[in-house]
Amino acid sequence: SVAIVLFTSDLRVRDNPVLRAALDAADDVVPLFVRDRGIEAAGFGAPNRAAFLADCLTDLDAGLRERGGRLVVRSGDTPREVARVVSETGAREVHMAAGVSAYAVHREERLRAATAGAGAGAELRVHEGSVTAVPPGAVLPAGSDHFAVFTPYFRRWSRERLRAPLGAPRRVRVPASTASEEVPARKAVEGVAPGVPAGGESEGRERFLTWKRRDLDAYEDRHDDLPGDATSRLSPFLHFGAVSVGELVHRAREHGGAGADAFVRQLCWRDFHHQVLAARPAASSADYRDRRDRWRGEREAADEISAWKEGRTGYPVVDAAMRQLLHEGWMHNRGRLLAASFLAKTLYVDWRIGARHFLDHLVDGDVANNQLNWQWVAGTGTDTRPNRVLNPLAQARRYDPRGEYVRRWVPELAEVEGSAVHTPWRLPSDVRGRLDYPDPVVALEEGLARFRQARGTG
Ligand code: FAD
Repeated sequence: SVAIVLFTSDLRVRDNPVLRAALDAADDVVPLFVRDRGIEAAGFGAPNRAAFLADCLTDLDAGLRERGGRLVVRSGDTPREVARVVSETGAREVHMAAGVSAYAVHREERLRAATAGAGAGAELRVHEGSVTAVPPGAVLPAGSDHFAVFTPYFRRWSRERLRAPLGAPRRVRVPASTASEEVPARKAVEGVAPGVPAGGESEGRERFLTWKRRDLDAYEDRHDDLPGDATSRLSPFLHFGAVSVGELVHRAREHGGAGADAFVRQLCWRDFHHQVLAARPAASSADYRDRRDRWRGEREAADEISAWKEGRTGYPVVDAAMRQLLHEGWMHNRGRLLAASFLAKTLYVDWRIGARHFLDHLVDGDVANNQLNWQWVAGTGTDTRPNRVLNPLAQARRYDPRGEYVRRWVPELAEVEGSAVHTPWRLPSDVRGRLDYPDPVVALEEGLARFRQARGTG
């Protein structure tokens, strides 16, 4: 008998319950990845992510080959391609991980119909507990279909029993005749930012083990420190499922201590946003808080938006964060918070413009995490203090007290010492005059007054 494993956001051989279930169900499996044209057409195939994805697929193929198998790659419309493979191989089951976005849910419905009608008919079996540690909907507050507040969610989530991580399968047998395209290669992707890291399960595991040894114990104290760069940087691996979130929770708990607790809490934020999106799929583009979109920034400020995207707002810490994004396809969480707040609240621009820019560049760009974090920051989402505004100068002094992060990313300011780098407009005029760095695009007080007026809070 033959079963198909349709890989989506779970590009790994270890702790992969979908792969395990298919291997338990059949003698032969077809490990299948479809390069989904729908995802590319929706603008989700941005180069930084495409490069990282290619690495993940190359490593997944290698992991399967070590076990006697290989990855089968096709391109096109996923339901149609899967139906084709069902007909070619006579598979009776198709296994895949449950997704949460509207796109994933719709695709699942189409897959169910397509596989039932293909060949002799194959059953679609969708597995929970692969893309998130705790499945969306598994813990619920009384009287609602999701948690809108993080802390009570975290409390309940922490009490859930997770299954023990699964090892890698010993052997994977793939029917010899199954045709495959070439596994995509990273070097074929154009327009990739210079600092995009290597992807793949092996790389992700290595990174986690090194980071756990070196930085996990200090995570609680250091994760918000902008220049310290002490976070795990596992987000792209988690986005593609090259490492398993459930296994990370398990390993961190095993390690124990305050650093591990803080790290697990952060992983829970990921599950939190996934369960919000699963219950409110429209929140990927419509305001979560108020369907009439009264809370969304509405200024059309083309020059200010370009300045923000390019990292020349005149606020060094915002510019440093935005340039880190352009260079690495990744940004420190504190940078994401203050840069997003600057666009959505200080400039009072529609959060979706910022979210789109992030998705165009982030290697970890993810519908649940990106759109809902943006909404959280913009005060249109689940934040319980929607009118709070992050002051970029206060943020800079607190999280980059010596200005090292700014000097790293804004070379025009490399000569300015200490925290003076955060306020170049206050430098003596002869020093200021020599710097090729713009004046602030807007005065903070002006932005704040405008925001308060729009929200009716001041
Ligand atoms: P660590 O500090 O090592 O945390 C470990 C993991 O926990 C992360 O890899 C991530 O999976 C999860 N995590 C941490 N913080 C959050 C959070 N606030 N929300 C959800 N999960 C979290 N994360 C994405 O994965 N994809 C995105 O597209 C994304 N967009 C964001 C946009 C904005 C405006 C903001 C404020 C945050 C966004 N985040 C996003 C969340 C967070 O910034 C990143 O997950 C984190 O910076 C990744 O770095 P790390 O892996 O070193 O994190």
